Amino acid sequence: MKDIIIIGSGVVGCSIARELSKYKLNIAVIDKNEDISEGISKANSGIIHGGFNEKKGTLKAKLNLEANKIIDDLAKELDFPFKRNGSLILAFNEDEFQRVKELKNQGNDLGIEELEILEKGEVLDLEENINCDVVGALYVKNSGIVSPYEMTLALAENAFENGVEFILGKEVVDIHKQKDKYKLILKDNDHIEAKMIINASGLEGANLNNLVSDNKYEIEGIKGEYCLLDKVAGTLCERTLFQVPNELSKGVLVTPTVEGNLLIGPNADLGEDVKTSRRGIDEIMDRSKLTMERIPFDRVINTFSGIRPKVKSRDFIIEEAMDAEKFINVIGIDSPGLTCAPAIANYVVDLIKDKIELNKKSDFKSHRTKMVRMSELSIEEKNKLISENPAYGKMICKCEFVTEGEVIDSIKRPLGATTLDGVKRRTRAMMGGCQGTGCMIPISAILSRELGIDISEVNKSTKNSSVVGFKED
Ligand SMILES: Cc1cc2nc3c(=O)[nH]c(=O)nc-3n(C[C@H](O)[C@H](O)[C@H](O)COP(=O)(O)OP(=O)(O)OC[C@H]3O[C@@H](n4cnc5c(N)ncnc54)[C@H](O)[C@@H]3O)c2cc1C
Repeated sequence: MKDIIIIGSGVVGCSIARELSKYKLNIAVIDKNEDISEGISKANSGIIHGGFNEKKGTLKAKLNLEANKIIDDLAKELDFPFKRNGSLILAFNEDEFQRVKELKNQGNDLGIEELEILEKGEVLDLEENINCDVVGALYVKNSGIVSPYEMTLALAENAFENGVEFILGKEVVDIHKQKDKYKLILKDNDHIEAKMIINASGLEGANLNNLVSDNKYEIEGIKGEYCLLDKVAGTLCERTLFQVPNELSKGVLVTPTVEGNLLIGPNADLGEDVKTSRRGIDEIMDRSKLTMERIPFDRVINTFSGIRPKVKSRDFIIEEAMDAEKFINVIGIDSPGLTCAPAIANYVVDLIKDKIELNKKSDFKSHRTKMVRMSELSIEEKNKLISENPAYGKMICKCEFVTEGEVIDSIKRPLGATTLDGVKRRTRAMMGGCQGTGCMIPISAILSRELGIDISEVNKSTKNSSVVGFKED
């Protein structure tokens, strides 16, 4: 029996796992997907928010403020890219400018000092490609960008290195509350038991709570769609450019990604279907033109969407279920959940400290080293690696310059990739202009060889999503 099972390997579950791995506990993270970060945590804007937009007294406001301050150290410890590039909340008429000024006061009232009101000329001096109809802006200097799945993988790998077990591809279909423990019933007639459950299951959070508690919750999915543009468009702005936020979302943004692409979106629409729609993509293209008139839409290389898990209160719910002792809900984690995840983890540890014995480990490994990225190395460093291992000299993804050595590393490292999307998120292969047209099959062949499975069994992401649908003779 485990001490703690965390349901969900998104950024929230992995942050909690990493924080709890500092203690002498027997922990497992369980997820229905085949890899880490296959839920909301892979499809969002990747912004580390400044926090000015949250309502005073909410958990979102408190945790955003805390998390924004710890992210620099966390990114250094876990070696994931984080850039404090700042953001601008753009006003295109006097009413919006008034609203932007109110947002600054709201932020100052929350204790955020890194906020400045800019007049039109100052905005255009900072970002010359912004639509010159801009009237003014709020400059949020403490916001930044991360790769959401790289951050999640870094947290997971570090938790794994510190003894957390990851059980992937296993869906929790029922939960039996028993004396002093919970029995999780898994798909395919399996089960696992734990003294404490942490429900960090994203969009499923309410359903899993409702299996054990009479205090029922409901989650409403609010979909947001995006366009991702080629790196040639990634230099059109340096900061994240927002329009004035509304009730449902922080508005359509135009932002560089931490990897150098340009990202546009999201809209906000009811629904839990992750397919993108012509209507949704048209909407974000139209709305983003207000921010920047000349976005090169002919350089869109992919579209995707993510679903925000909204609860009625619109605030995070992080508490023990009222009638289920040691069943800890971490639900309704919509934006700014990515930002807040490390602070959510600290909050959870604080919440459970009187419910389970927490003794610090003396051998906790706080640091994790990211994968070799050949494209980031000097010629001398590249030559040295290639002479040690010729696989680093064999280019597999010609758009993102990813070598066979890196693909193999992504499979062999702790919690390594077992799917094409797993290799993609760890190496960036298949993320460039051709989106895998040129390298998906060679990478399938490498996965097949390294995992010892037939190439027809190599999946894109979920079970039965193979791209080579035949067995070789
Ligand atoms: C469009 C959009 C834009 C956003 N932009 C930002 C942003 O810029 N900045 C920011 O701070 N936040 C942002 N967010 C919010 C942020 O992405 C989320 O708060 C965060 O990713 C939630 O992480 P999570 O771990 O709770 O959920 P998830 O990542 O969804 O993880 C939950 C996991 O639980 C698993 N699971 C579910 N049910 C079961 C089950 N029955 N059995 C086993 N496993 C199960 C799922 O497979 C999933 O992997 C955005 C969200 C959206 C949708």
